[in-house]
Amino acid sequence: MSRFWSQLVHQLTPYVPGEQPKIADLIKLNTNESPYGPSPRVLDAIREATSDDLRLYPDPQCLALKQALAEYSGLQTDHVFVGNGSDEVLALAFQAFFRQQPQPLLFPDITYSFYPVYCQLYEVDYQQPPLDAELNLNLEDYQQPNGGIIFPNPNAPTGKALPLEAIRQLLTKNPDSVVLVDEAYVDFGTESAAPLVKEFPNLLVTQTFSKSWALAGLRVGFALGSPELIEGLTRVKDSFNSYPLDRLALAGAQAALEDLDYYQQLSQKIIDSRTWLSEQLEKLGFKVPESKANFVFARTPEAVDAGQLASSLREKALLVRHFKKPKIDQYLRITLGTPEQNKKLIAVLKETL
Ligand code: PMP
Repeated sequence: MSRFWSQLVHQLTPYVPGEQPKIADLIKLNTNESPYGPSPRVLDAIREATSDDLRLYPDPQCLALKQALAEYSGLQTDHVFVGNGSDEVLALAFQAFFRQQPQPLLFPDITYSFYPVYCQLYEVDYQQPPLDAELNLNLEDYQQPNGGIIFPNPNAPTGKALPLEAIRQLLTKNPDSVVLVDEAYVDFGTESAAPLVKEFPNLLVTQTFSKSWALAGLRVGFALGSPELIEGLTRVKDSFNSYPLDRLALAGAQAALEDLDYYQQLSQKIIDSRTWLSEQLEKLGFKVPESKANFVFARTPEAVDAGQLASSLREKALLVRHFKKPKIDQYLRITLGTPEQNKKLIAVLKETL
């Protein structure tokens, strides 16, 4: 009989992120990072912050960054919370708002796989209404009594987005629940729910610097919500670490917000690549639902096994993501690369299929 603490350790099933191999000439289209580097201004700011001042603690309030984010989002500083990547912000939200609810938390049955992991960790009861055959979320499934609602918009890994009107409807129908809209991929063509924050005190929106801002390595995420929800996140955070971001992360994220033109161009390049890659994949017999993210979710042609195809691509130095999960095991999630990388992928697929 193993010891109780040992059982506790082994009953957790942590999230397993996509591979981060060190092979330099591998084309990495598996974890939705930006294929482009951050703004040169960001790199300068981080270099400048690399000084003797690193001996000093960073600002625990992250005030300058919160002010910049408030301005960027059309909100006030007390509507903004920052954290070490949006995964951390999400974890804090689960602890602050979804624990000890009499009703289950609702999220779609095909979605970001961290949500069930947090539910297990924080002992949150949950239900997962299925998506329809076109991978769309059915709004009616989110009108039953619940202990909160969370979904990415656009959804991951499908890339499908809900219009702002649908989110407004959902919020109107659920005034007693916290509704968390995870906007990790919002900048690639989806309207943000941020403007609704002033109208709905139960709405929390999370975003990240890891995708459109090309700063996954810096680990910066943020939440936008009513001052009361922000207060809830702050109370949980301060209970275990009152310095959310280090000095380099603060400097880099702030500088990114000062170079919006650079980032608008970057997102536009990704959107253009998405149109090109989706068309090319369809010509090869893939089914590609319309994606609003920096990846496409492509169903392999009949008689082509998605898992095997992912392995064959890997042997040819191309990494894409395959999920061994019911309903989506015949899909590949392919992060958009540079035009050259996308062309290479299509050329290799033509050889392989
Ligand atoms: N939400 C969704 C839907 C994601 O796909 C990701 C990235 N894996 C995240 C949140 C977390 O991103 P990060 O912690 O890098 O901000």
